[in-house]
Amino acid sequence: MPAHPELLAQNAQFEKKLHKLSDRVHVAVGYAASNVGFLVGDSGVVVIDTTETTQAATNVLADFRAVCDLPVTTIIYTHSHRDHISGASVFAEGRDVQIYAADNFSSDLVKVDDARPAPNAALMARTKRQFGISLPGDERVSLGVGPGDRPMQGMGAGFMPPTIRVAETITVTLEGFELELARAPGETPDHLVAWLARDRILFSGDNFYHAFPNLYAIRGTPYRDFDAWAATMDQLMAYRPEILVPGHTLPVIGADAIRDALTGYRDAIRHVVSETVTGMNAGLDPVTIAAGLRLPADLADKPYLKEFYGHIGFAAQAYYAGTLGWFDGNPTNLGRLPPAEEAQRFVALAGGAEAVAQAARSALAKDPQWAMELADRLIAVGQDAAGREIKITAMRDLADATINAPMRNYYLLSARELESVGGDG
Ligand SMILES: [Zn+2]
Repeated sequence: MPAHPELLAQNAQFEKKLHKLSDRVHVAVGYAASNVGFLVGDSGVVVIDTTETTQAATNVLADFRAVCDLPVTTIIYTHSHRDHISGASVFAEGRDVQIYAADNFSSDLVKVDDARPAPNAALMARTKRQFGISLPGDERVSLGVGPGDRPMQGMGAGFMPPTIRVAETITVTLEGFELELARAPGETPDHLVAWLARDRILFSGDNFYHAFPNLYAIRGTPYRDFDAWAATMDQLMAYRPEILVPGHTLPVIGADAIRDALTGYRDAIRHVVSETVTGMNAGLDPVTIAAGLRLPADLADKPYLKEFYGHIGFAAQAYYAGTLGWFDGNPTNLGRLPPAEEAQRFVALAGGAEAVAQAARSALAKDPQWAMELADRLIAVGQDAAGREIKITAMRDLADATINAPMRNYYLLSARELESVGGDG
């Protein structure tokens, strides 16, 4: 089955193109997961973000060289996510470049520190699934905010550490451009936005893109500060930009469209917070809150709030976990049976594994989620082959039914992983 048509249509947001935004400002969209900005001065170039691979950066630079042959002297990292910082050495071309970043750059990333254990293997496995890394091209149709089809060579290989750390809002003159660099916590706490007053262009990093904000990433992320992200939208609007260049997807052009977009983002985040808080105060568990949560109609219709990347239900559960923690308040859950033990008792009560398998198979067509929940119990009681087959089918159906690219990629790569387990056994 094909991917969800709305998700496929979202690919128009990252058609590969070097956009000219003003006489001396360009942005490369669609070459990589993330965008690259160029400010062309009289004797050198400022680059804003650098993509996730050296190959993508090489491709971007080659197309930029068709319009400009000046050396890159300065790089600005909008934040520390790897898809923005991993092509720096390509743009530096062996020169000493100055690299600006926030003073808490990297605070959102797991540090490699042998003295303290960190779940790096889990993060790596889950990151692969969220982004569909290693999925074949016809399955990896989108990242939600970037193209599924993009170069993978040199992933993470061109990172260069920042040389100048920005603690507060500063104004700098770089290659003749007067730029305001301001701390602006949002998708990460270490965001730095760049405001070019002369052209009224704002580089927002990942505090905005054309998809519901990724308030929780299923690859596994610490709590993202919802209130800070919403407040940052007001901070960005105060510049009154006429062109907004996000870290992913197309620029937003026009003061009114930008105000609508930033207001919508802010109000959507605050809506999730207020609805989740209402549910928490009513004693609801996070799964129930998430299942019932919708954006109000005027926001739900906004194309930039479609759940291509972030997910409203995941956001609600992340807010719950980030404020009250993992415990949902139900005393039953203070001493929960581990799933494998619950499965044994459930399957026995349901009349045995064959009865559960039959129920799961007949649920597949109409209710793949329930089929999957039954399949997990089959796998847990040792009915691996039947459970795997049902779960793989369910995941592929759910993948094609969702507009959320991280979910789609996660289902599809998990299905392949489960298939390969079956092959070994
Ligand atoms: Zn990004």
